[in-house]
Amino acid sequence: MSSIVAIVGRPNVGKSTFFNRLIKRREAIVDSVSGVTRDRHYGKTDWNGKEFSVIDTGGYVVGSEDIFEEEIRKQVQLAIDESDIIVFVVDVEDGITPMDKEVAQLLRQVDKPIFIAVNKVDNAMRVGDAVEFYNLGLGDYHTISSINGSGTGDLLDAIAEAV
Ligand code: GDP
Ligand code: MG
Repeated sequence: MSSIVAIVGRPNVGKSTFFNRLIKRREAIVDSVSGVTRDRHYGKTDWNGKEFSVIDTGGYVVGSEDIFEEEIRKQVQLAIDESDIIVFVVDVEDGITPMDKEVAQLLRQVDKPIFIAVNKVDNAMRVGDAVEFYNLGLGDYHTISSINGSGTGDLLDAIAEAV
């Protein structure tokens, strides 16, 4: 059985873009308007000779803001339960949002390796902006750009080490 890596985080932070980069196939639905992935997607990948499965989580399209948040919470909890390793994706453009804090709260209770991926760090100027994510209280983070790939190799090195 290969390890399962779950990608969690609120909508629009770039989970599916990262997932697509990992599995090198366009399986997840990336929606540039809403950022909503309508299903959970599973893929397999390998890095540094380690093979692992990856789950891309998303929310469902719903009307109410409250239901929406509840749905995200459920998705995150499900991902936590069925994975061995968690990648928590946040967005350097938005900084820490209330929903990020809620996800961090859920993750603090988890006894599994957790990697924070500060996404959309497309250029060196944004590296400094990522510092605030220490305030999530989950320790160190990796800066990545899922669009241009920078930093993703280092993050995968760390993940593969934990697999
Ligand atoms: P998800 O809802 O978390 O799965 O987010 P998506 O992968 O659907 O991406 C949401 C939006 O963010 C899309 O418009 C992506 O093109 C954009 N995006 C994802 N990764 C990056 C990145 O590294 N840099 C920038 N600038 N935009 C990104
Ligand atoms: Mg998605």
